[in-house]
Amino acid sequence: MVRRRHPPDRVMPARRQPERTCVGCRAKDRKATLLRVVRRPDGTVEADPTGRVAGRGAYVHPVAGCLERAARTGALDRALKATLGRAEAARLMHDLMMARGEMA
Ligand SMILES: [Zn+2]
Repeated sequence: MVRRRHPPDRVMPARRQPERTCVGCRAKDRKATLLRVVRRPDGTVEADPTGRVAGRGAYVHPVAGCLERAARTGALDRALKATLGRAEAARLMHDLMMARGEMA
């Protein structure tokens, strides 16, 4: 197949997926595969399964290991610049898993 009308330098690069860092394992992954937690402007922190809530977001893999680590190590607090404490962080992680279940 001859494509003289479309020289290589005009080919668009593959569309890049936005990437975010998981606060549990610190690995980068596509935003779409991670769960978002958001700290709203009023300071409340909640699971954001839609990814559209305004505020400071943190991302974590939807697996127990990453969720637990994010809560246990305080990485979630640091990412959100919040002081959740372990119990609150654990509750949020639970909410995230539930929210994901509803989306599936
Ligand atoms: Zn992870």
